[in-house]
Amino acid sequence: MEKKNLDWANMGFGYIQTDKRYVSNYKDGKWDDGALIDDANIVINECAGVLQYAQTVFEGLKAYTTEAGHIVTFRPDLNAARMADSAKRLEMPVFPEDRFVDAVVQVVKANAGYVPPYGSGATLYIRPYMFGSNSVIGVKPADEYQFRVFTTPVGPYFKGGAKPITICVSDFDRAAPHGTGHIKAGLNYAMSLHAIVTAHANGFDENMYLDSATRTKVEETGGANFIFITKDNKVVTPHSDTILPSITRRSIMYVAEHYLGLEVEERDVYFDEVKDFAECGLCGTAAVISPVGKVVNHGEEICFPSGMEKMGPITQKLYDTLTGIQMGHIEAPEGWIKVIE
Ligand SMILES: *Cc1c(COP(=O)(O)O)cnc(C)c1O
Repeated sequence: MEKKNLDWANMGFGYIQTDKRYVSNYKDGKWDDGALIDDANIVINECAGVLQYAQTVFEGLKAYTTEAGHIVTFRPDLNAARMADSAKRLEMPVFPEDRFVDAVVQVVKANAGYVPPYGSGATLYIRPYMFGSNSVIGVKPADEYQFRVFTTPVGPYFKGGAKPITICVSDFDRAAPHGTGHIKAGLNYAMSLHAIVTAHANGFDENMYLDSATRTKVEETGGANFIFITKDNKVVTPHSDTILPSITRRSIMYVAEHYLGLEVEERDVYFDEVKDFAECGLCGTAAVISPVGKVVNHGEEICFPSGMEKMGPITQKLYDTLTGIQMGHIEAPEGWIKVIE
C-alpha cells in the first residue's frame, strides 16, 4: 500500500484519523462477525452504560516497520489476554482473544499506508477498546457492548534523545487494595487527571504513586511501571496486585535475565530504598523506557547517580536490546513478533 505523505519524524502524540477501523457488537449474548468500517464517529444513546457508569476498558500497542521492511506488532496476544482480564473485572463479556489479534491485524493491514517507515522513529499506535453501549440507568452492567480498534500514527517519543525526567511522590492514590489498579480501565485514568495536572503545575513530569494502604511501597506512575537498577546491576521491579502488568516491563525483565544475564527481582520495593538505587526507568508501550533522573518527595530530592543528561548504562542496554528485538536486529523469543505483512 502506498505510504501517506506525512511528516513522520515531526509528528507528535495526537489523534490523526486513519481510513479504517474494526467494529464488533455484542447483543443477545453473542458477538457479531465484526467488520472494517469507514465511519470514525459513534452514535450511542444518551444513557449508554459507558457514559453513565464508565463501563469501558482499553488496550494500547504499536505497529511499526522493521529493518527488513515488514509491518509487525509486538506481543499482541498479551494485550488480548489483558483485555480479557480487564473485561471480566468490569462484568463485560470477553472479546475472544484470537479474534482480538485478528482484528488488530485487519485494522493495521487496512491502514498500512499510515505505518511509518523504518528508521523514522514514528509508529502506528493501535487502540482496541470496548464499552457498554445500551442504555443503563439503574446501576448494573450493560447488556450490549461494542468492541472497536482504531489506529493513529504517532511521532517518535523521544525527539533528540531520551532525557531523564523528574517525578514527584503523589499525595493522591492511584489504586485501592482489591480495586481496579491491575486492569486497563478508563476509570483509572479519569481519576488520575487531577493528580497529573497538579504534578505538571508543580513542575514535575510524572507522579510516583505509593501503595495506598501503607504509603511505604512504590507502585507505578499513571501509565508506566517502574524498573530500578541496583548498584550491583540487579534489575528490580515492584511486585503488587494493584499495578497494571505492563507488557513492556515483563518483556524487559525477560530480556534482562535471558539476553543480558542480569539478576532480576520482582518484589516489594519500599520507598525508603529508592535512594539506594543506581538507575530508574519507566516502562510502557509509548516510550519503551523513559529514564528517571530525580524523584522528589515533598521537597526531599533523590538524584540517581545516572544523572539528568542520559539514560543509565544498564537502562540503555535494556532499551537497546528490547528495541533491537522489536526492530528485528536481534532475534526475538518465540512468538514475540507478529508479522502482519
Ligand atoms: C498501559 C499501562 C502501562 C504500560 O503497559 P504496557 O503494556 O507496557 O504498554 C503501565 N501502567 C498503566 C497504569 C497502564 O495503563
